[in-house]
Amino acid sequence: MASTKTLLGIILCFLAIQFGCATQLVRHSANQEVIAMRWAIAIHGGAGTIGRDAEASIQESYLAALQVALEAAERILASGGTSLDAVQEAVRILEDDPLFNAGRGAAIMADGHCELDAAVMDGATRNSGAVAFVRGVRNPVLLARHVMEATPHMLVAGDGALRLAKQKGFQIEPDSYFETERRRRMWDRERQRQRVGPEAGEVELAMGTVGAVALDQFGNLAAATSTGGLTNKMPGRVGDSPLVGIGTYANNATCAISCTGTGEEFIRLTVAHRISAMMEFGGLSSSEAAKRVVMEELPRGSGGLILVDRLGNIETPYNSRGMYRATADSRGNRHVAIWE
Ligand code: ASP
Repeated sequence: MASTKTLLGIILCFLAIQFGCATQLVRHSANQEVIAMRWAIAIHGGAGTIGRDAEASIQESYLAALQVALEAAERILASGGTSLDAVQEAVRILEDDPLFNAGRGAAIMADGHCELDAAVMDGATRNSGAVAFVRGVRNPVLLARHVMEATPHMLVAGDGALRLAKQKGFQIEPDSYFETERRRRMWDRERQRQRVGPEAGEVELAMGTVGAVALDQFGNLAAATSTGGLTNKMPGRVGDSPLVGIGTYANNATCAISCTGTGEEFIRLTVAHRISAMMEFGGLSSSEAAKRVVMEELPRGSGGLILVDRLGNIETPYNSRGMYRATADSRGNRHVAIWE
């Protein structure tokens, strides 16, 4: 009996390695080892964080909100769900939370309203779906998934995206749903800063985005990102978040990435695909590639990213003051943080 189990273990291990899946040996009971497929998840709530001097209660709210989204994604992955479902659910929860710049609580642009960008990508097929400068859609990440799975297109923008959402019965909300009091204060401050210069106050708070990347038990990677973009942006401006290969990317051969920061800087470097290419063609590890791009190539203060690679390694480099983030994996590692 014991030797049958050992043989089965060896065969499973061999198959998993052949198909590129991450595995781990788990001690199940006293003398028995079974193969468990590895999963991993990382989420972020943006690189435009509160300062370390912020009230403890505000810090607690951010950490608790990250925890809720992380746990929802963990439950999906631990019970054998797909990485696509896990990243979508984490991002949907963060979109509904007014603390973060996506969905409800999105950044306010120059005309006083919100326009939203989102993308999802499936690392197994490299199919993707995205929406850009869409108004009124409560959960842009769900619409992005619909674009990927139910249309022949990959990016649908503006009025066309809103029309698609209405036709397909996605939840539509009035402007007042998205535009919170707190975002209006940030908008006022940002407009003042742009008029009088940095003495007016915080710069970092102009940023923000939410995202998730995951590896599931089938060895499939997925990424999702959703944002209101930069505070006081020009209507119609599109950042890196809905651009596949820049703010969002997943490829089973390398990694899944979701970025946050000043979109224009990320677009200039095609950040996510650049990291994937460094791994695939340059032989760099996910850690070396991600750190090189974020810490050496992007300008200081421009943002950061979350990454899960095909073996379940997680990276969360940023060059900004902080980055709201949370990570977990099947080995029991778990981390929720704002700063170092
Ligand atoms: N990257 C987003 C954008 O440029 C904003 C952010 O992540 O802070 O639209």
